[in-house]
Order: sequence, then C-alpha cells, then structure tokens
Amino acid sequence: MKNATQKNELTCPKCHGDGGHDEIEGTRQVFQACYHCGNTGRIDRELYRQDQLDSALANLASINVAALMVEGQDADVCYRTMAAENMIPFNQLIDDMHYRELNNLKAFVEGLGSGSNRKRVEDLLIAGSSTIPTMRQAIPTPPPAPKPAPAPIGNPDDIPF
Ligand SMILES: [Zn+2]
Repeated sequence: MKNATQKNELTCPKCHGDGGHDEIEGTRQVFQACYHCGNTGRIDRELYRQDQLDSALANLASINVAALMVEGQDADVCYRTMAAENMIPFNQLIDDMHYRELNNLKAFVEGLGSGSNRKRVEDLLIAGSSTIPTMRQAIPTPPPAPKPAPAPIGNPDDIPF
C-alpha cells in the first residue's frame, strides 16, 4: 500500500536524520547540508535500497581484494613489492584495487539489464551484505597453514627421494 506519507519515511544513513552536520570553517561553525537527503534527514525506499546495494557491492569488492591477498602464500609480499616498485603506499594500491573491483561489480550488475534477474541478484547482494565483513575486517588475513604431508608408508628408514 502506497501513499504520500510513505514517501520519505526512512532516516538518511549519511546524516542520521539531522539533514547535515556542523563544521568548523576558520573560526565559524557552519551547518553543512547533507547532499544525500537534500537537507531533509529523510530518504525514500528507492534511495535506501540503492544505499544498501552500494554498501553490499563495496563489501563484496573488499572481500574479493582480500581474497587476492591470501591466494598464494607470498601474495601479500608480492603486492607490497608491487606497491614499492610503483612508488605508491601499500594502502593506496589496495584502494586502487578496491576501486577497480567495485567498478567491475557495478558493471556486472548494470549488465544484467532491468529484468527480474537483476532484482533477484540485487536482493541476494543486499541480503548477504549483513553477514559479510566490512572492508577493514576483510583485509588482509593470513592464509591458513598448509596441511602436513601424510606420513610415508613403508620402511621408516627409507628416505623418500
Ligand atoms: Zn542526509
């Protein structure tokens, strides 16, 4: 059921309903209007859903970048070397990778067109985003220790090479 009172019924996540925030400019305190909700502190369901999707895609991009870091035992070292060779801080390299991955994911969702499949994928992304970690939690975790090789069968005095 839709009616006019349902329009901007949700609290803006950027300004938490305040419509903006106070900022110090020189010696003066000025009120900076929130661009996201147009200064009202409230947003409609459509924008809320877009916010959720953006957040889900950002989280997924973090997961994917973090996965690259732990893919091989030396991956973290490789990326640190790559950053050093390009004379950029490691964190900037991560940010650049995150930005590229986020754009890839957005292009993927856009590529689904406007049919019901896209809505279904968006629903899954939004539903999953509450169970996956934020960027800070996702990057990077050390790889699990490799399992020891099974003990050789046969004469324990035989050297297996
Ligand atoms: Zn706002």
